[in-house]
Amino acid sequence: MSSRKPVIAGNWKMHKTMSEAVDFTRQFLALVTDVKDVEIVLGPPFTSLSAVLEVTASTPVRVAAQNMHFEQSGAFTGEISPPMLKELGVDDVILGHSERREYNAENDSDLAKKVVAAFASGIRPILCVGESEDEREGSRTEEKLGEQLRGDLSGIDADQLAAMVIAYEPIWAIGTGKTATPEIAQQTIAFIRTTVTSMFGSEAAQAVRILYGGSVKPDNISELMAQDDIDGALVGGACLEAGSFASIVRFQ
Ligand code: 13P
Repeated sequence: MSSRKPVIAGNWKMHKTMSEAVDFTRQFLALVTDVKDVEIVLGPPFTSLSAVLEVTASTPVRVAAQNMHFEQSGAFTGEISPPMLKELGVDDVILGHSERREYNAENDSDLAKKVVAAFASGIRPILCVGESEDEREGSRTEEKLGEQLRGDLSGIDADQLAAMVIAYEPIWAIGTGKTATPEIAQQTIAFIRTTVTSMFGSEAAQAVRILYGGSVKPDNISELMAQDDIDGALVGGACLEAGSFASIVRFQ
């Protein structure tokens, strides 16, 4: 682990109604009141954002949306704009999750616009990148990640890179119980840091927090966090239960 402040973020995906979200958040907060040295992010569905923001209001816990359109407003049925999230008080937005790339045809040119739009509205992007199983087996991981990073980060500057969060989520490790080994996660995240160094310089690349995501659980978080370049985790399944997410937050 480095001097960068760890970030532990939960991506709830399409889970929890508003009342379930409130119950969960109250229970979870009670378990992490004394945690000071980890940045905690909760990522509920749109319908629970207000409620979770209200429950977390007097705490340092950040709240993230799971997607956002790049336009300010317009004829985009079913979409949510940056000013809508900003007015609610949302801190962060998860962008480019592989499920959105796969099921909602989100591409790198949309993501480049979304990253710029998030900064323009004062919302911090948490950009997800990652390769498929076929790409890893075909030795195309670096090519795929390079393409995503160069595309998705094409509209920002070094200060913005330093302020944002990147999540490396190998698609083959998401929801499969098949976590990347700490060595693979470290090696790949180091490659991501090298790539952003070539794009933005080493000061920004040393500052940006890069998380690992994919079957993170209370029993594998410590070994992941022990790696030099891994600055935290983006957690799916194991963030849905208060005790389990609290143990991940307390990885030390
Ligand atoms: P799991 O932790 O369920 O594998 O999901 C990871 C993920 O997609 C977080 O965004």
